[in-house]
Formats: sequence, structure tokens, C-alpha cells
Amino acid sequence: MIPVNKLNTPVGPMKVTQTDKNLEYAGGAVHGLCLIGTDFDIKLRKGLNEFLEKQTFMHEMLHTIEIMNGLEFEEYEIDTLATGLIFLMRNNPKVVEWIQK
Ligand SMILES: [Zn+2]
Repeated sequence: MIPVNKLNTPVGPMKVTQTDKNLEYAGGAVHGLCLIGTDFDIKLRKGLNEFLEKQTFMHEMLHTIEIMNGLEFEEYEIDTLATGLIFLMRNNPKVVEWIQK
């Protein structure tokens, strides 16, 4: 369960919602969506395992940086960055704490 329902992002405040519905992007099933336009919403599929939920959430948060900066990453690049950031954050809690101050 994601511990927040709102998120401050580079594109502004966003809602965070989890849904039982299937999510699709470009005709394929996805675990999450980053909707920026009329809605500012990060949606995640319910029922993902704990790591996949965190990885998908990080993935969708990284899309906000991508969009804000006019970048165009491939999905596998966003996935690689999301997994790498989670690894760095989990294995360096003092650095995360230092950044937060
Ligand atoms: Zn994506």
C-alpha cells in the first residue's frame, strides 16, 4: 500500500490512486500510469507485490522528471533508473536522510 495519496513532483502536486481496474498504455497492460494533462494523477494497479509496487511507483515518479524536462526515455530506461534508485536509497539510508534535510 502506497503511504501517500498526494505527491509533490516537478510538474506540481499530483494525486496518487490505486485501482483494481486493468491499466493500459499504448495498447499494452501496465502496472502504473503517470497522467499529466487535465488530470495530474499517478495510478497504480492494486495487488502488485511489495517490490513491484515500489518499483512501479518510482517509475511513475521518474516520468514526472522526464516530462518536466522535455526528455524522452524508453520504458526500460525508466525501469532501470527506478530499480537503481530504490537500490541506492535502500542501501544508503544516511544519504537519504541527509538529502531530506
Ligand atoms: Zn512508464
